[in-house]
Amino acid sequence: MKKLLFLLLLSFSGFAQLKYGLVIHGGAGTILRENMSAEAEKAYRQKLDESLAAGYAILEQGGEATDAVIAAIQVMEQSELFNAAKGAVFTHEGRNEMDASIMRGDDLNAGAVAGVRHIKSPISAAKAVMEQSPHVLLSGAGAEEFATEQGLEMADTSYFFTERRWKSLQRAIEREKPELDHDDQKKAVEKSPKSSLIYSVPEDYKFGTVGCAALDKNGNLAAGTSTGGMTNKRWNRIGDSPIIGAGTYANNATCAVSSTGHGEYFIRSVVAYDISALMEYQSLSLKEASEKVVIKKLVERGGSGGIIAIDKDGNVSMPFNTKGMYRGFRLSNGEAKIAIYEEE
Ligand code: ASP
Repeated sequence: MKKLLFLLLLSFSGFAQLKYGLVIHGGAGTILRENMSAEAEKAYRQKLDESLAAGYAILEQGGEATDAVIAAIQVMEQSELFNAAKGAVFTHEGRNEMDASIMRGDDLNAGAVAGVRHIKSPISAAKAVMEQSPHVLLSGAGAEEFATEQGLEMADTSYFFTERRWKSLQRAIEREKPELDHDDQKKAVEKSPKSSLIYSVPEDYKFGTVGCAALDKNGNLAAGTSTGGMTNKRWNRIGDSPIIGAGTYANNATCAVSSTGHGEYFIRSVVAYDISALMEYQSLSLKEASEKVVIKKLVERGGSGGIIAIDKDGNVSMPFNTKGMYRGFRLSNGEAKIAIYEEE
């Protein structure tokens, strides 16, 4: 009898721990239903679904959270719909400079690349930095040399060219001129030495960065983020996406987080780590911690964007302070969702 009870208890506790799943984002911003064609909406939803399926398949087979994160992100990196790898935005000089990072929650190991121009899958390079180098963050030509040595697939700059992003750059450059004369903009710059006209985010800005956070069957968490950064960025600007603690964070004791939004604010607010810290030090739930950071602290500081996160128990949170965020999750208990707009 005792043995039976023990077995029952074991299977129940085992069952509880078995919850696994993943959550993804494809960027936040002024994403409005009225501006989206039915065709475009369908394409986004399909890609998000494909990304979730790729990551979920790995988790279902007992694979590692880091591999699920890579698989989910790579689906979006290969799509022109998102601002990562293939669909990366252009810098002021007309280049694609990509950033990515990944972190695992069991040993707090992490890897990242910044300002890379020829790596087909920047997230795979981040993973290689994490696993095959003694470093956390490699940049530019050195990061590409390392990726080549690791046998990662490289691509000509033409692979990353898309007409849509090129036009966005032209529009952004055009917009800079009238903005220079805008009184409010001038005041903002005078008030804060950190703000710069080049980083002023237009009303209709969309952050198309992609990210994933996953919890595997072994209870390990991981998160990753991949981006082309911000259209019209200059001076080898690097955003929050490759910064551990800002764009990406994972800790098995708390949660795994990936951010998207106005990177400068996310770096200064150490967004991803702040969520984990609120859980660790103030025992906030994932929902409370993530909403406090994204809906309260970031908004007060003027930082627009959102995050997706999953905690050690498989709870998911996807708060954002913009009009929309491409997002979705899939959990082993059957819960799943794909959404774009605010009201969904
Ligand atoms: N966070 C990214 C950056 O600032 C942009 C984005 O999320 O789309 O580089």
